[in-house]
Amino acid sequence: MSEESIKVAVRVRPFNQREKDRNAKLIIKMHGQSTFITDPRSSGEEPKQFSFDYSYWSHDGFIELPSGILESKDNSSAYASQQKVFNDLGRDVIKNAFDGFNCSLFAYGQTGSGKSYSMVGYGVNRGIIPIACDELFHQIQSTKSSSVRYEVSLSMMEIYNEQVRDLLTQDFPKGGLAVRQHPTSGNFYPQGLRIVPVGNYTDIERRISEGTQNRTIAATNMNATSSRAHTVVTIYFDQFINGTHGETKKTSAINLVDLAGKGRFQLGISSEYALLFQGSERAASTGATGDRLKESTNINKSLSTLGNVISALADISSGSKRKVVVPYRDSTLTKLLQNALGGNSKTVMIAALSPADVNYDETLSTLRFADRVKRIKNTVVVNENPLE
Ligand code: ADP
Ligand code: MG
Repeated sequence: MSEESIKVAVRVRPFNQREKDRNAKLIIKMHGQSTFITDPRSSGEEPKQFSFDYSYWSHDGFIELPSGILESKDNSSAYASQQKVFNDLGRDVIKNAFDGFNCSLFAYGQTGSGKSYSMVGYGVNRGIIPIACDELFHQIQSTKSSSVRYEVSLSMMEIYNEQVRDLLTQDFPKGGLAVRQHPTSGNFYPQGLRIVPVGNYTDIERRISEGTQNRTIAATNMNATSSRAHTVVTIYFDQFINGTHGETKKTSAINLVDLAGKGRFQLGISSEYALLFQGSERAASTGATGDRLKESTNINKSLSTLGNVISALADISSGSKRKVVVPYRDSTLTKLLQNALGGNSKTVMIAALSPADVNYDETLSTLRFADRVKRIKNTVVVNENPLE
């Protein structure tokens, strides 16, 4: 059993076309592990400084290779590519999974700030999730031996309006899956969530594509877009090890979480999963109604509870308050992320930052959130037990 801080990375994206058209000003600077943000409204004020495990500059200094992959322009460029981010963060996730630790990787930030780009990626610029899934099976192949047997399975769900939808089936109960608490471990889980075995990377790709399509159907029916739902893909990695003292089972659950965007909605942003896994998704239709309102309140409920959980955990870790109740139960998202936050999981968060002056308030709040997250310490254990 050991204590381990949540690892936090921040990453700043390039200007998008709209920002370029409007002559947006760059308000983010990075230097080593430090990130600086300048308030565009008060000139002359010192920039605010934050420090994280990793600060990724992906704003400029890149070229597009003939393959379409964005790479650093030259050796002197500070540009952080998808591969660089995977090498720092994704490789550890795989290693920890092999060692029998639960892992969680989640992206946080305003809509359009680059969460999905880092997590899933677009086209040939694959993000951490697909590269990690690919790598997992490569390593299984290369470490194959007669004394270890591997089993990999996967679930995919969506939290939308505080309800859990199983994305690997179309017939889930109206009102979503019930979220139950395990009597001994205390962990929350969606009752009856489908967990399907996968034998290789293509299987995973196919399943996630299926899940994306189900999400699309649901989203279309509900007059919504994917950026309003939290998506959780979990990979269950089991190793059956034949040792001198009989057989043991080492398990790891890898949670990959793409959170709904916080802040103002930008309608019409197409889905990351859809692009990568060849699904399709319609842009949101217009017309805000009561449903839309309820929806945004519920997203805020999950995200604001997430904020409260993070603050409570940060207080506990810093020892600044004596009796702190962590309000996991206040939202579906935080119930299901209980282990990832303050529990038995090696957790990594990527905070996605917009470079543009118009997003100053949101970006500053993302940096403050990330600053609290890095203070959280989880207690991790290897999940290894003899097989009875
Ligand atoms: P979010 O998931 O936070 O809503 P996206 O990941 O969809 O945001 O990113 C918004 C846009 O910015 C996309 O067009 C994406 O391709 C682009 N983008 C984001 N991050 C990067 C990056 N690191 N490098 C290049 N383009 C990026
Ligand atoms: Mg997204």
